[in-house]
Amino acid sequence: GNANLFARLASGFPADRSREFLEAEDGSKLTFAELLDRAGRIASLLVASGVEPGDRVAVQVEKSVASIGLYLGVLQAGAVYVPLNPAYTPAELTHFIGDAEPKVMVCDPASEGAIAPLVGKAWLFTLGPAGEGTLLAQAAKLPSERDVAARSGDDLAAILYTSGTTGRSKGAMLTSDNLWSNATTLHRFWGFQPEDVLVHALPLFHTHGLFVALNVMLLNGGRMVFLPKFDPERVIGLLPRATVMMGVPTFYTRMLASPSLTREATAGMRLFISGSAPLLAATHEAFEARTGQRILERYGMTETSMSTSNPLEGERRAGTVGPALPGVEARVADAEGAILGPEETGILEVRGPNVFKGYWRLPEKTAEEMRDGGWFVTGDVARIAADGYVTIVGRAKDLIITGGLNVYPKEVETALDALPGVVESAVVGVPHPDFGEAVVAVLTVTGDPGDVVAMLREQLAAFKLPKHVAVVDELPRNAMGKVQKNLLRERFAGLFG
Ligand code: ATP
Ligand code: MG
Repeated sequence: GNANLFARLASGFPADRSREFLEAEDGSKLTFAELLDRAGRIASLLVASGVEPGDRVAVQVEKSVASIGLYLGVLQAGAVYVPLNPAYTPAELTHFIGDAEPKVMVCDPASEGAIAPLVGKAWLFTLGPAGEGTLLAQAAKLPSERDVAARSGDDLAAILYTSGTTGRSKGAMLTSDNLWSNATTLHRFWGFQPEDVLVHALPLFHTHGLFVALNVMLLNGGRMVFLPKFDPERVIGLLPRATVMMGVPTFYTRMLASPSLTREATAGMRLFISGSAPLLAATHEAFEARTGQRILERYGMTETSMSTSNPLEGERRAGTVGPALPGVEARVADAEGAILGPEETGILEVRGPNVFKGYWRLPEKTAEEMRDGGWFVTGDVARIAADGYVTIVGRAKDLIITGGLNVYPKEVETALDALPGVVESAVVGVPHPDFGEAVVAVLTVTGDPGDVVAMLREQLAAFKLPKHVAVVDELPRNAMGKVQKNLLRERFAGLFG
């Protein structure tokens, strides 16, 4: 059969194409027939524009219902989907366009003037949030009936750029097999049923909203309640129409800040899932105390889609990301690559059909991160319990070396977060004339937290203690709720001279 990801996902569509795939907040619906019609016409337009299987189609648009048809149309044409964060400026886009070399680019009508000079020989179409622009207008003139381009399981379905949290974003080459294996595994593991309704409030340019949420719901044959962006009150108001929610940790902390989040508001929900950044054990506990629901935390990355998950049935252990998913293996190694035992801390490596084909046009980088036997070095610091539960301790690149001694920021952050009055914390290393790097703690607080360094003294060795504590209104975060430590390092770089 055809291993094109479009054909594979469409195998989950209901036979009755008049059934609804999603519902917008205002109650308007999109049926499978409409989705397939739009995808087919867009595929026709792409082919008419000279797109051949394997060509890249880059997309920088606001999240919208129409952009789902574009995603499927790109796949149907056999092309490689390259979504880009709408926050990227034209200067940043120059890098991504030069790297991906798309045959076609689709952008928001408002940015057409700025992007047109950047795309060279590529065709440029526009697509606005309500479907306005040249893409759908031109596609409407073309046939919706068309074949699904033949692709093999090892062919690329997407190039997804990493979030750029630790350096310049890298393009991860994801094959149809990578994405299909992960979608089927998650669909089964989280017990999706035809009756399920997902609240979709995540962005569509990142693995979480695109491949975890959207692919799984396409495979499920629907349905979603679809929001252009996250808003705590609106999401809480929509929960009675849904059964499952996927979110980043900030979704959950922001919902908890609202008195509308109650046991009654969540009574019809069977599952809340969190990922993309660490969920504090305190958030997990507060959410359960308020709603009676235990958030299910899972772990993944652009390069691997999802690798571990807490179980649907069985223990959802707060502060852990659960065991490796079925078909996926996880292990921990030291800096020299020696494999470590249970409860030993080192770099997490994963292996399975989910692991990507490599970094786009970066063969050396790919080779650096791949070990013999197909193990991918995640760059996350972790430990694995004897029963397989994985705890993410931090990122290898986050490591602070102060006076020649290693400090894992997550260890200090966990201790800080547990103090009364501390809401959350981020610990970074900044240049220091004597120590090389100095530990700096940045906190958000309620009231006066007192002398936090004194309070940590009993738990942490002296070299791990912050040499400076700063209180801020809010930690800087990106769209996926990840703390942008680079901004904190810049901000506090001059502290010690
Ligand atoms: P870059 O690779 O460009 O520096 P990034 O790693 O942040 O950016 P993503 O692929 O979006 O880009 O994020 C994957 C990372 O997110 C993981 O490596 C891990 O550090 C973090 N992450 C994801 N889920 C969790 C989780 N449940 N708990 C802790 N960290 C998580
Ligand atoms: Mg990464």
